[in-house]
Amino acid sequence: MNKASIAIIGGSGLYHMKGLEAAETVAPDTPFGKPSAPITIGTLEGKRIAFLARHGIGHHITPTEVPYRANIYALKSLGVERIISISACGSLREDYAPGHIVIPDNIFDFTHSRARTFFGEGLVAHVSVADPFCGDLSGQLESAVRATGAAAHCGGNFITIEGPRFSTKAESHTYRSWGMSIIGMTASPEAFLAREAEMCYAIMAHVTDYDVWHVTESPVTVEMVIQTLNKNTEIAQEAIRSLVRNIKPERSCNCESALSTALITDPKVIPAETLEKLRPLVGKYYK
Ligand SMILES: [Zn+2]
Repeated sequence: MNKASIAIIGGSGLYHMKGLEAAETVAPDTPFGKPSAPITIGTLEGKRIAFLARHGIGHHITPTEVPYRANIYALKSLGVERIISISACGSLREDYAPGHIVIPDNIFDFTHSRARTFFGEGLVAHVSVADPFCGDLSGQLESAVRATGAAAHCGGNFITIEGPRFSTKAESHTYRSWGMSIIGMTASPEAFLAREAEMCYAIMAHVTDYDVWHVTESPVTVEMVIQTLNKNTEIAQEAIRSLVRNIKPERSCNCESALSTALITDPKVIPAETLEKLRPLVGKYYK
């Protein structure tokens, strides 16, 4: 069976991963439906890598419609332990300029219409997401991005809005006053589901615009987003290649035991079908 330990989830503008050798495609079904697109598994720098286009091939799935749970569940089932998300974002700070890359270190979840947990139906877990990204993986990602020579910023609050529309000026100014650094539409719940699935997760966010708050720059448009992303595609692919080449073979963070302090339900009352559905996630805790 096809397995991969590292996955790339490509966002707007990145629907394929160049350089994957001996690539095969799988289209797994999950208890949460089908992933956004068939998953490509191939070899990069001698390692098996999975690639998934978050918005589907051809970009036909809105941020609200992305089957986040199916995506993370499918990657988990393929053996993936670490996920790099490649994402477009708007900037809410002058110094995070279009063309720059941000590896954020926190999330403000401002979404309201999407499923955000694997749990429920008789099995409750409260996972800790004080630091929603894997610090270890983010650090390795930062080194890989810097190695490409790209302007990179480490740290910042990533606010996730529901979309699909862009912000109003009133909203954009408010997010800035809240101390938000960048804005996007998909970091939540993806990062939180990855934590529930005990996977490391880090974001390479490509700044495509200044959202709508800037006094001299024009408000964001789709054309602006795509233009910057096209310029950054090569940098993104080069950074991924460098990351994969140098990635530490073993994880040294706490992501792989995130559920050890999160599960609260008495095993005696968990419905068998719920346990069966979530077995890839919780099986090691309920033998
Ligand atoms: Zn980790």
